Amino acid sequence: MIVSNRKDLKEIEKYIENLDKFFLIGCSECATLCGTGNEEAILNLKQWLEDNHKKVTGWMIAKTGCQILGTKRELSQYKEAIEQAQCIMVLSCGAGTQTITELFEEKPVIPLNDTLFIGNMRRFREFEERCRACGECFLAITGVCVVTLCPKSMLNGPCGGYKEGRCEVNPLRKCAWIIAYETLEKRGLMEKFYENILGPKDWSKANSPRQLKASTGYSKSKTEDPKEK
Ligand code: SF4
Ligand code: SF4
Repeated sequence: MIVSNRKDLKEIEKYIENLDKFFLIGCSECATLCGTGNEEAILNLKQWLEDNHKKVTGWMIAKTGCQILGTKRELSQYKEAIEQAQCIMVLSCGAGTQTITELFEEKPVIPLNDTLFIGNMRRFREFEERCRACGECFLAITGVCVVTLCPKSMLNGPCGGYKEGRCEVNPLRKCAWIIAYETLEKRGLMEKFYENILGPKDWSKANSPRQLKASTGYSKSKTEDPKEK
C-alpha cells in the first residue's frame, strides 16, 4: 500500500487564506487504511474549515482515487457542489491528488497529505517501508528487500562501514545484508544465492516518470511460441 501522512494544518492555512468554499475528496483504499482519507478524516477537516468560517460545499470518498476514469464517473453526481467550490481538497496519496488535478484543470487543488512510501501495516496504523519500486524485484534471490532495508541500497553485500553486524548509517539496526543472510540460511537458499550473485543493477528501470501497459497473462517465451519456430 501507499503510506501517507496528514500535513500540519499550519501549512494548509497558507494555501487557503483567500479561499472560502471547498469540496473535499477522500479515498477508500490506502488513504483510508492510513486514516488520512477516510470519513473521519474528511469530517474532521470539514469541522476545522467551518470553525475557521469556511464553507464546505460537499464531500465524497473515491473508491480508488488513483483510477482516473472511475473517479471521474463517481464525481459526476457532485457536479453542482464542485462548481460552487473555489477549491478542491484531496485526502489521498499523491497519485489520487493528481487524478483530481487532471480532472479539474481550472480549479486549485490542495493535497492534505504527504505521500511517504510503499509499505506494509504491521499493527493498526503502524507502517514500515518495504519497497522502493526499483523496477526489478530481487526478493527471490535476496530474501528480503535490500534495496529498501539498506540506506545505500547495496546489492552485492555489505558496504565497508558495516560493523559487528550493525548498519553504519543507523547502528540501532542490523545491516540489511545480515538480515538477508539469516533469512536465506533459514530457508536453505544460500547456495542459490551464491549461484545468482547479483551484478550491477540497471537503475534505468527506476527512472521516473515510468509508464506501463499491463497485460493480463504471462507471455510465452520465444521458443514456446509455435509461430516463432
Ligand atoms: S527489490 Fe525492488 S521491487 Fe522488490 S521489493 Fe525491493 S524495491 Fe521493491
Ligand atoms: S552497513 Fe549494511 S545496511 Fe548499512 S549502509 Fe552498509 S550495507 Fe547498507
